[in-house]
Amino acid sequence: MKVCVYTLGCRLNQCESEALADSFAQEGFEVVPENGNADLYIVNTCTVTSKAEQKARRMIRRFAAEAPTLVTGCYAQLNQEEIEALGEELLVVPLDKKAHLLKLAAHLRVGIESSLSLFESLKSFNDSEATVFDYAAASFSYHSRAYIKVQDGCDNSCAYCRVHIARGKAQSLEGSVVLERVKELEAAGFKEIMLTGVNLTMYDHEREGLGGLLELLLANLGSDIRLRLSSMEPDHIDDRLLEALKDPRMQPHFHIPVQSGSDRVLERVGRTYTMAQLREILTRLKTIKDDPFLAADVITGLPAEGEAEFEETYSFLEEFGFSALHVFPFSPRPDTPLFEAKDRVPESVRDERAKILRDLSTRLHHAYLLRQVGKEAEVIVQNRKGGSWYGVAGNYVDVQIVNAPLFAERGMLLGGVFGQKNDRFMEFIAHGATL
Ligand code: SF4
Repeated sequence: MKVCVYTLGCRLNQCESEALADSFAQEGFEVVPENGNADLYIVNTCTVTSKAEQKARRMIRRFAAEAPTLVTGCYAQLNQEEIEALGEELLVVPLDKKAHLLKLAAHLRVGIESSLSLFESLKSFNDSEATVFDYAAASFSYHSRAYIKVQDGCDNSCAYCRVHIARGKAQSLEGSVVLERVKELEAAGFKEIMLTGVNLTMYDHEREGLGGLLELLLANLGSDIRLRLSSMEPDHIDDRLLEALKDPRMQPHFHIPVQSGSDRVLERVGRTYTMAQLREILTRLKTIKDDPFLAADVITGLPAEGEAEFEETYSFLEEFGFSALHVFPFSPRPDTPLFEAKDRVPESVRDERAKILRDLSTRLHHAYLLRQVGKEAEVIVQNRKGGSWYGVAGNYVDVQIVNAPLFAERGMLLGGVFGQKNDRFMEFIAHGATL
């Protein structure tokens, strides 16, 4: 029997989906991609933008016309009825019960053995034991990198966001359990692990923040393992975390939700830092590694973003030399304070600004790649296509390995030097031996 777990949204959602897919694989199901004629679809939704919800509805309609479909995730938590109306053999499991689905595969297998239809079996599922930290995949079907969820929820209340409404208060996984999971993945051969959470820098277990967690992991792991962080909110980046990030096993790629370069806008939308604080944090982040990849999330057209505020944002992003920008046009979300905001920016202006920032991102990214030529780097080998091996460098740059060793294989760590940039990739000249 084939199952497809289709995911929208952040790395945390991807991580949770991988754990669901793994639970199916362990029960003998075949995990397939979205076009793999699945017998069952699971759609893990996102609510961060109205676009993400639109796409979810489109995919749910398509899947539900083909096979029984189960929908879960943040959007399912907030708009259950709207989703239920999208198809016939369709079930919605809200986010607060998503972790229960880790037991679904075992339940379905028993149902199938007793000749129940798949949909009947689905409807009779009612497990209630799992917690938000039970997602612990041992294998990854949709990504070559391993993920561990260490944090959930958020105690901030940014006025545009409804993720914290869906996910609830911040909570953190005990450090010793994180270490155990990292070691299991390391023993299974994974060379690189990404730590994820809704607001990762809000990690706080018994007063040990993210810096404390990294100290624990780095003190107990071998020299071969590489750790990467998903996005880091600027307001909880402290000295201890910055110190831990200096370790060479921490990958030189930092993703910061900056959102705006204007104090007036930041304050209007309830962000908890000023531009002066942001500049200080970013300056320190930039100098703890050799030219790390610094990515920023930015929202255009937030309330209070006049021409002057947009100019400030543009100048800040350009001068600061980010390596890439993830640009989101503001979409007012139901149930948030900005839903009915009177000082909204016209959509045409918002979209024009998004285009201007995306063009800036292209320029900044190109400049970053050119700066890498000739620099030493490490690459994790990912896949082979048309006779060439491809991989991802520590700074998250996609590379084509021009002289991969004969014994190259997926997941292998290679040392080498960045070569020239071609159309889509940086070239990477391997030193010829694994590290
Ligand atoms: S930091 Fe702000 S934007 Fe991010 S999840 Fe928390 S409330 Fe939402």
